[in-house]
Amino acid sequence: MFAAITTTPAGARSLIPVCAALPATLWVPQSVAPALEPTADITIQVYSGPLQNTITTLWNEQAGLIFCLATGAVVRLIAPLLQDKQTDPAVVVLDEAGQFAISLCGGHQGGGDRLTQRLSHLLNAQAVITGSAHHRYLPGIDLLGQPFGWTKGSGDWTRVASAIARQALVQVIQDAGSAVWQQHLPADHFFQLGWPDVPPLPAEASSPLQARVWISAIQRQFAPEAELPKAQWHPRVLWLGIGCERGTSQALIAQAIATACQTHHLAQGAIAGIATIDLKADEIGLVQLCQERQWPLRCFTAAALSKIIVPHPSAVVEKAVGTPSVAEAAALLAAQQHSEAGSDLQLSVTKQVFRAAAQPGAVTVAIAQAQQEYTGRIGHLALVGTGPGSLDQITPAAKAAIAQADAVIGYRLYVDLIRPLLRPGQIVEPWPITQERQRAERAITLANWGLNVAVISSGDCGIYAMAGLVFETLQAQGWDGQTPTIATLPGISALQSAAARVGAPLMHDFCAISLSDLLTPWPVIEKRLQAAAAADFVIALYNPKSQKRTEQIAIAQQILVQHRAPDTPVAIVQSAYRPDENIVLTDVAHMLESAIDMLTTVIIGNRSTQLYAGKLITPRGYATQGANGSTGAEPLA
Ligand code: SAH
Repeated sequence: MFAAITTTPAGARSLIPVCAALPATLWVPQSVAPALEPTADITIQVYSGPLQNTITTLWNEQAGLIFCLATGAVVRLIAPLLQDKQTDPAVVVLDEAGQFAISLCGGHQGGGDRLTQRLSHLLNAQAVITGSAHHRYLPGIDLLGQPFGWTKGSGDWTRVASAIARQALVQVIQDAGSAVWQQHLPADHFFQLGWPDVPPLPAEASSPLQARVWISAIQRQFAPEAELPKAQWHPRVLWLGIGCERGTSQALIAQAIATACQTHHLAQGAIAGIATIDLKADEIGLVQLCQERQWPLRCFTAAALSKIIVPHPSAVVEKAVGTPSVAEAAALLAAQQHSEAGSDLQLSVTKQVFRAAAQPGAVTVAIAQAQQEYTGRIGHLALVGTGPGSLDQITPAAKAAIAQADAVIGYRLYVDLIRPLLRPGQIVEPWPITQERQRAERAITLANWGLNVAVISSGDCGIYAMAGLVFETLQAQGWDGQTPTIATLPGISALQSAAARVGAPLMHDFCAISLSDLLTPWPVIEKRLQAAAAADFVIALYNPKSQKRTEQIAIAQQILVQHRAPDTPVAIVQSAYRPDENIVLTDVAHMLESAIDMLTTVIIGNRSTQLYAGKLITPRGYATQGANGSTGAEPLA
């Protein structure tokens, strides 16, 4: 759904990685096509005639246009096509050298700012985003509900957004849907939140109220030129219980729903879905309406429905279908599934029967409001390794995954290390050091709910980190392998970063052993130390020592001296690639004399590892030098 457009071979070369990663189709003129190597990864389209014609077609078809062209040329090309920021696609401009990614238009609703940030991470380019909300670390008000699948309702969005841009006092009143976004506003935010009542203006408010935003299932009517601009989001919290006679038309059901909502001032945008009895699972009018509006159709058995206490049970209905209520019971049951267990939900609208003079059939509608909104989205879990600590040691793909995420979850220290990569409006949850299992569960809860969640670990996410815990938890929950979707983004592990800082110690067979016996019995760890020492592996020790756990490293050293010469080189690397990095080169006999802590990786050389010019060097080959022309370690004795 993205098109990447350029007119030069150099531009095409810059865009090819973008096209492969997004993915996007590459559009080039006939003159450029021959210069391009055929590549299996991307689709290339050759346009003929003026570029303006191609852009006019792409404008209405694509979610985003990425140009590698002069900004001026792009402005001229898109100027005749600009209509409305609600509908215009994202337009991003890249320079040929790949230094800048500029969000030109469609920044908010078009997703241009987000696309720009993603491209900047992919290309290691500077993102140029000039929208004012971006720099004050605020979500665009017109994007606020996007992660939660809220429907953007009516209102004077332009004036509301401009009040926010002016940093005027804006009141947000929320009585439905998740409030999780509220926890992620900057401390000095100027929103005034109310739940669910209209809060009085703060006494210290220096300026009058300049805008109001409602987050609610209620449909409010705003006067077009009202003095106070207002706008409304509708979280999808309403479950409509529907009963109907066999063969009732889609139009009559739609009309019944519209009338029920209108009479009770409820927004159709707040509809989560339809609930009914399983006998109606193939009711054509109902099924078609759900498909058309993208509403889920929840079908319950008569047995399940008859357990629900409703205001208007009917003996006639019970006789016909085996439950005294369909519409009311189904609405409540569906809403309960999206609410805290045991909560006492009431119907917002008790059952109403609709008929239309000229049409056969009848429809019963009841409405219940759930506590949690239905997002209508399939969640995603990105298991992201953020490397040893500095931002330039993170892969562009990992950066892009973090920028894309609706929510970022990780240990507090690691979240702080990647804070510059975070985006306004993201849900960011820093956690204490332990509680890994709870972290995994929280990430899965958010993903099951429909969010795109990045779980971050330092180093590699799959090495003594969160990836395994997330998979284990998913497995325990009976995950089907598809929902949520999952991607693992590798990072540079501590053993690689530590090795890189001290030379080339991992040039031959090596292993990693964690000395933490929190999750592994100590005898197992000791056995692995014995085996690795005896087999002459280069060894990287993770989690070598904590404040409470101090003996393990001493036992490890005793094992090592039994198998290695006392002068075998050892590197003690603390906080690699972080501002407080500290490195000590020592040997097996003296390794306990240096400071070792939980931020340290200890690398122990094998019997061929040399210390030369301040570097640990482990020879590469198995054969003795000269045997086959290669250099190498002595064969194991
Ligand atoms: N997933 C991480 C490992 C987490 S276990 C990875 O792949 O690197 C935590 C241990 O990793 C620490 O106790 C320490 O032994 C090591 N470690 C993590 N970051 C480090 C760094 N910057 N420098 C040295 N060791 C580090």
